[in-house]
Amino acid sequence: MSDCLFCKISRGEIPADVVYKDDDCIAFRDISPKAPVHLLVIPHKHIENLYDLRKEDADLMARILLTLPKIARQQGLGSGFRTVTNTGHDGGQEVFHLHFHLLGGGSLHSL
Ligand code: AMP
Ligand code: ZN
Repeated sequence: MSDCLFCKISRGEIPADVVYKDDDCIAFRDISPKAPVHLLVIPHKHIENLYDLRKEDADLMARILLTLPKIARQQGLGSGFRTVTNTGHDGGQEVFHLHFHLLGGGSLHSL
């Protein structure tokens, strides 16, 4: 998807504050953070959202899920973090490239 914002970030065509990258995914700071640490973790592959997942994406998604706690620990979030994935317009999704919000840095009980 050449005109997708997050594909452009994944390809390095648009600058982002990247904190982690591997063959499957890239993690960068949300431009409008809702918590002291607010990252977006996205697959390099353009998948719109959870509705768009296919069986062949299962291994990729499993690897990314296993990576989330590693990224969290690297960010100093050893005592907890939150992941959120908005799906579709009614789910509050604004950017239609699958992403996990990774939030933490202080208690999120009141959020
Ligand atoms: P969502 O509403 O789940 O689609 O979340 C999209 C998120 O992307 C929002 O939290 C935005 O603040 C964030 N965002 C939009 N553009 C950028 C950007 N260029 N760099 C980093 N984060 C962005
Ligand atoms: Zn994309």
